[in-house]
Amino acid sequence: MTVRITVLGCSGSVVGPDSPASGYLLRAPDTPPLVIDFGGGVLGALQRHADPGSVHVLLSHLHADHCLDLPGLFVWRRYHPSPPTGKALMYGPSDTWSRLGAASSPYSGEIDDFSDVFDVRHWVDSEPVQVGALTVVPRVVCHPTESFGLRITNGDGASFVYSGDTGYCDNVIELARGADVFLCEASWTHSPDRPPNLHLSGTEAGRIATAAGVGELFLTHIPPWTSREDMISEAKAEFGGPVHAVVCGETFDVGRSSTG
Ligand SMILES: [Zn+2]
Ligand SMILES: [Zn+2]
Repeated sequence: MTVRITVLGCSGSVVGPDSPASGYLLRAPDTPPLVIDFGGGVLGALQRHADPGSVHVLLSHLHADHCLDLPGLFVWRRYHPSPPTGKALMYGPSDTWSRLGAASSPYSGEIDDFSDVFDVRHWVDSEPVQVGALTVVPRVVCHPTESFGLRITNGDGASFVYSGDTGYCDNVIELARGADVFLCEASWTHSPDRPPNLHLSGTEAGRIATAAGVGELFLTHIPPWTSREDMISEAKAEFGGPVHAVVCGETFDVGRSSTG
């Protein structure tokens, strides 16, 4: 059974000239379509690949570049001429409802209660969640706000790990342990004066991939002001397996098809 992942957006920290901010569409048999993170521009990109009214949402954290296209998805679910039936699931940090409700409200100090269209649930560190045929394990990572990396496995044991935004830490190494595909942020070039517990360099992404023994390293969240080539060459210097920097619109599979 394959997990198919489409990159809806991969520009780090802000929308870029060639990509929305963070967003990844996951499709797997017997599983509703899932979108991990929902940064600026993701709703538009999603319309090329899936019905936005059909998706459930998994949020790594609530920085603007990972969630601020969601008020548009509330509009879609409420006002589309053929509205979806029932609520979609949304998993995220503990203040997901209030933060996104504030973002969606036009009134100062008020919250748009979007529980009419989403069933909002909170991640609990290391506590697995089942969505269709996929198991999602959130793990707290090192970033200034409540932030999670996600490990997603199917019934065949194929594993996909997304770092979310994180600095270098043991939790992200443990989360990525033995993953078939590790989608890891790489936000800046390596330098000793980078602040801790914020983002990874290409060098650190490569070191984590080696320490965790992953199969393939896919780099993402490269901001418009950072060189893709630098990120790839830094990671390759630390990790001996395949290294690729994802681009908006590409699709890749994790695990083998049950039909061979
Ligand atoms: Zn970010
Ligand atoms: Zn962030």
